[in-house]
Amino acid sequence: MLTDQVAIITGAGRGIGRVIALTLAEQGANVLINDVDEESAQRVAAEIEQHGHESLAFVADVTDEAQIERMVQAALDKWGRVDILVNNAGITRDNLLVRMKEDQWDAVLDVNLKGAFICSKVVARPMMKARGGRIINIASVVGLIGNVGQANYSAAKGGLIALTKTTARELAGRGITCNAVAPGFIETAMTQQLSEEAREALLGQVPLARPGTAEDVAAVVAFLASSEAEYITGQVINVDGGMVM
Ligand code: NAP
Repeated sequence: MLTDQVAIITGAGRGIGRVIALTLAEQGANVLINDVDEESAQRVAAEIEQHGHESLAFVADVTDEAQIERMVQAALDKWGRVDILVNNAGITRDNLLVRMKEDQWDAVLDVNLKGAFICSKVVARPMMKARGGRIINIASVVGLIGNVGQANYSAAKGGLIALTKTTARELAGRGITCNAVAPGFIETAMTQQLSEEAREALLGQVPLARPGTAEDVAAVVAFLASSEAEYITGQVINVDGGMVM
């Protein structure tokens, strides 16, 4: 249980982030819902409050340090602490390497990698003071094995895995753990854009022969945030139906 703990989840207005937020709230955490889209952040915060838990919607772009400072301060003002950060915000701008535009590269590296760096840096201060905390980065199996058409995304997720390990090493002395969850093929809006052919090809690589759900990912995040996981840091846990082993 995460009773009275405070969690910040980035990109929680929909998809995997939304389900992570609902799952942590169900376990008793107070949850700050971050997103760039105000309406979806408010909707998820309202959904959590309807279930009788505390929540706060906060619109901020993870690539903007000043906005993230204000977001973390808002959580501290409301609840007095931040125990858990889930760096979930992510985007894709797919293209083959030789056709990839610099702006596609920059946008994906900015949100998926720089965003996680900024949020981790800002949240590390109150966590260090409290001598405890959990940082959980949502990476991807693509960060381990690469993927055609995703030079930017795979580099960002590979970088996020390396950032996870350095964060884990730097903050371990203060009782803060940092781990990554690497989902495989998960059914969300991000993957609904795939053609039937691409879906079949992807599923062919999954020994458990089904796409994952946001709930599959959220369950591992909840475990990493729990006291049972206090001796785990610097790890990457794949949630991919056996795609990568
Ligand atoms: P999603 O449905 O597209 O949700 C991503 C959320 O992040 C959206 O609500 C989006 O807001 C928000 N966001 C985008 N840019 C942001 C920014 N600069 N600041 C704050 N929030 C921002 O994606 P998902 O499928 O749930 O993916 C969640 C995470 O899992 C991502 O890191 C993704 O890379 C990773 N992942 C997904 C899969 C998969 O199969 N779905 C597999 C491996 C890893 P708007 O939509 O309003 O812009």
